[in-house]
Amino acid sequence: MRIKVTLQPEDLPKNWYNIQHDLPEPLPPPLDPGTLKPMSPEPLLRLFAKECVMQEVSTDEYIPIPEEVREAYLRLGRPSPLYRATRLEAYLKTPAKIFYKREDLNPAGSHKPNTAIAQAYYHMKEGTKRLTTETGAGQWGSALAMSCALFGIDCTVYMTRSAYLQKPYRRTLMEVYGADVHASPSGLTKVGQKFLAQDPNHPGSLGLAISEAIEDCVTHDGTKYSLGSVLNHVLLHQTVIGQEALEQMKMFEEQPDYIVGCIGGGSNYAGLAYPFMREKLKKKSDTEFVAVEPKAVPSTTRGQYRYDFADTGEMTPLMKMYTVGHTYQCPPIHGGGLRYHGKAPSMCMLIDKGYMSSVAYNQNEAMDAAITFARTEGVVVAPETSHAVKGAIDIALKCKEKNEAKVILFNLSGHGLLDLKAYEDKINGKLIDYSPDEAMLKESLAKIPMVA
Ligand SMILES: *Cc1c(COP(=O)(O)O)cnc(C)c1O
Repeated sequence: MRIKVTLQPEDLPKNWYNIQHDLPEPLPPPLDPGTLKPMSPEPLLRLFAKECVMQEVSTDEYIPIPEEVREAYLRLGRPSPLYRATRLEAYLKTPAKIFYKREDLNPAGSHKPNTAIAQAYYHMKEGTKRLTTETGAGQWGSALAMSCALFGIDCTVYMTRSAYLQKPYRRTLMEVYGADVHASPSGLTKVGQKFLAQDPNHPGSLGLAISEAIEDCVTHDGTKYSLGSVLNHVLLHQTVIGQEALEQMKMFEEQPDYIVGCIGGGSNYAGLAYPFMREKLKKKSDTEFVAVEPKAVPSTTRGQYRYDFADTGEMTPLMKMYTVGHTYQCPPIHGGGLRYHGKAPSMCMLIDKGYMSSVAYNQNEAMDAAITFARTEGVVVAPETSHAVKGAIDIALKCKEKNEAKVILFNLSGHGLLDLKAYEDKINGKLIDYSPDEAMLKESLAKIPMVA
């Protein structure tokens, strides 16, 4: 039986796929944080690479991947293999076929280099001297630090304090690549100082680290900012995953019935899903898309679809998305990459219009699935990825009940070798499940500004 499909270097995609070309309607424009009126993309040029701002609003179907970026992709693990989880299938005794795309097999250990490399390259081309960014679990920080080293740019990372304490080796990895790493909230920015004054042990959040990284950027010359998820150009860069997977599923002679992935901001899942979603939007397939989020941060399952700030400090434009509110205090779950109050606007539109569904799990049940996966397939996945594994296993078990041989594909977004604390806590029965009560959710939803 075939269990693995690899692609040749020459099969590496030459273009990124842009979902904006095929969305059922144009994305609602971002709103100016001051006036709450639709804004033009120009102010974004202070933060982002010009090329990325153009990609942000482009409706071209395909955008060419620069040769230097393709070369870096090749050097750092692309094309990535696609596996069939025959040992997991046998363990579950399911008639379903489970496939997974390996985004853990590069030096940074997650899908994040797919955009970090592209962004660092454009900044190098445009003369940026230093990049600031946030990181939750540390995967994005490591990917950007690595990519900045590759293209000769300085890198400053604001790392949420909970992850900074839980994952000292992620910090070391970033430092190996030459980045400066600060626990967020830090004393280095005004917004960080404000939150530190409220609580000296503030665990931080992605939304808050974003505010700090942006403040650092706009108060220093030659400095730009880089975001690891949520934005259109980030999701765009991730579509190398799904384009490779489309070819690989053809080589398996299978067509996925379900495509599953975990969502923090939505980029790894969009990366896998959107090239397949293209077929669905063109009515050429009826694949079901299942996004998986943590119950601790239930943006799409219990939040609202409306305009909200992308950061906690209210500095960013507002985007229309599923959100639990930009002031929502994300509980300190181990899947730090999933601790974000909102989700990517294009994905939220697809969920709102019924092209995609979503489910939520607790971290204990997700980590149980991750341990089952490690003991059957051998890969120790990231705590974020454990949610995707749980989602895929649940569908496979439903197929078993109905005796249906459906095809399930999920994204293995990263490995968990620097997240062993999550496994240690799981094994020792110390993992806590969090789920906001109605009152807590209501409170943070009430703090979202009203937009006419
Ligand atoms: C960052 C991260 C995520 C969540 O971010 P998305 O933008 O939703 O992909 C998921 N898995 C891993 C391994 C990550 O590093």
